[in-house]
Amino acid sequence: MRQQNDETIAEKVFYALGTINLIKIFDHVEGSVIDLAVERVHQIEQRMSAFLPGSDIFEMNKNAGNGYTRIHKETFRLLERGNYFEELTGGAFNMMVRPLVELWGIGKKGNYVPEEKEIKRIRKLVDYKSLLLDKKNCLAALKHPGQALDLGGIAKGYAADEVKRILTKNKVKNALINLGGNVLTLGQHPDGDLWRIGIQNPLKPTGSYLGTLSMTDKTIVTSGCNERFFMKGGIRYHHILDPRTGSSARSSLLSVTVVADCSTDADALTTALFVLGLRDGIPLLRRQKAEAIFITENLGIYLTDGLKNLFSIKQDER
Ligand code: FAD
Ligand code: MG
Repeated sequence: MRQQNDETIAEKVFYALGTINLIKIFDHVEGSVIDLAVERVHQIEQRMSAFLPGSDIFEMNKNAGNGYTRIHKETFRLLERGNYFEELTGGAFNMMVRPLVELWGIGKKGNYVPEEKEIKRIRKLVDYKSLLLDKKNCLAALKHPGQALDLGGIAKGYAADEVKRILTKNKVKNALINLGGNVLTLGQHPDGDLWRIGIQNPLKPTGSYLGTLSMTDKTIVTSGCNERFFMKGGIRYHHILDPRTGSSARSSLLSVTVVADCSTDADALTTALFVLGLRDGIPLLRRQKAEAIFITENLGIYLTDGLKNLFSIKQDER
C-alpha cells in the first residue's frame, strides 16, 4: 500500500493472524479505541486459528470423525458464510483445504513437492460437504478422521470488518485498516483526497505497484501467488490451492483484487477467483455486485467496469 504524508493521530502495527497488521486513525478519539480493535483481532485469532490449541477450529480439527464440538457463535456464523461461498463457487473456495495446506507446507517445508499419489490421497479429504453444522446448539463437526478446517482464506477479512465496526462505533470517521492485505478505508485521507491504494506488482518486491486505486469506504482485498511461494523447476508453487487438483491453482493469474463493501466476502471471493480464473470468475463477480482487478501471467491488467475510472496505471512498472 502506498504511504502518503499524513497526520496520523493513532497508529498500531502488530503481529496477528500469521501476518503484520496496521491500523491508522486520523481523528481525535480516545486513545484506547485502537487498543480495543487490536484486542478484538487477537480474540478472533484465539477462536479461529488452526494453529492455536483451544481455538474452535483447532478443537474441531482434533475431533474430526469423532462427533460435534461446541463452538463460539461468531465462529459458527463465519463457517456458515464460508459455506455459502463454497456452494456458490462449487468448492473452488473450500475451508476444508487444511490437509492439503499441511501436506504442501508452502513457506514451511522448503521446496517440498509431494508425490502425486500422496496429493491424490489427501485431496479426498477436502470435501466441503463434510462440514456438519447444528445451528440450534452451535455445534459443528467434520465427518471423517483426517479432515480439517482452515479459515486462512476468509477470517482476515472478517477481522477487518470487525475492526471497522469497532472504530465506527467509537466515532472514528477517517481511518485505514490493513490486516495482511485485507485493506479497509474509512472516510478521507487527511489531505482531503480519496484514499489511493497501490496494487502490488506480483513479480516485484513488496512496494512496487502496477497502479493505484482511488477509493473510500470500501474494502480492497488481494490474493496473490507472491504471498507464500517457492520456485522449483521453473514452476511457481504458492499457497492458494485448487481443491480439484490438490496443487497450487493454475488459472493463468498472478493476483486478484476484489473491491466490495464487506471484507469477509471479498476475502472469500479473492481466493475463489484466483482458483477459478478470469472466465469463470467474471459471472460470479456480477452476481455478488463486487468489482475486481485481475493481473494475468503476462502482467495484463483486467478491470471490471466499475473500476475503470478509479484505477490509474503506473506505466514505468510494466
Ligand atoms: P488468501 O487467498 O485469502 O488465502 C489463502 C489461504 O487460505 C491459504 O494460505 C490457505 O490457508 C487457505 N486456502 C488455500 N487454498 C484455499 C481454497 N481453495 N479455499 C479456501 N482457502 C484456501 N499463518 C501462520 O503461518 N501462522 C499462524 O499462526 C497463522 N495464524 C492464523 C490465524 C488465523 C485466524 C488466520 C485467518 C490465518 C492465520 N495464518 C497463520 C495464515 C496466514 O496468515 C495466511 O497466510 C493468510 O491467511 C493467507 O491469506 P492471504 O490473504 O495471503 O490469501
Ligand atoms: Mg481470501
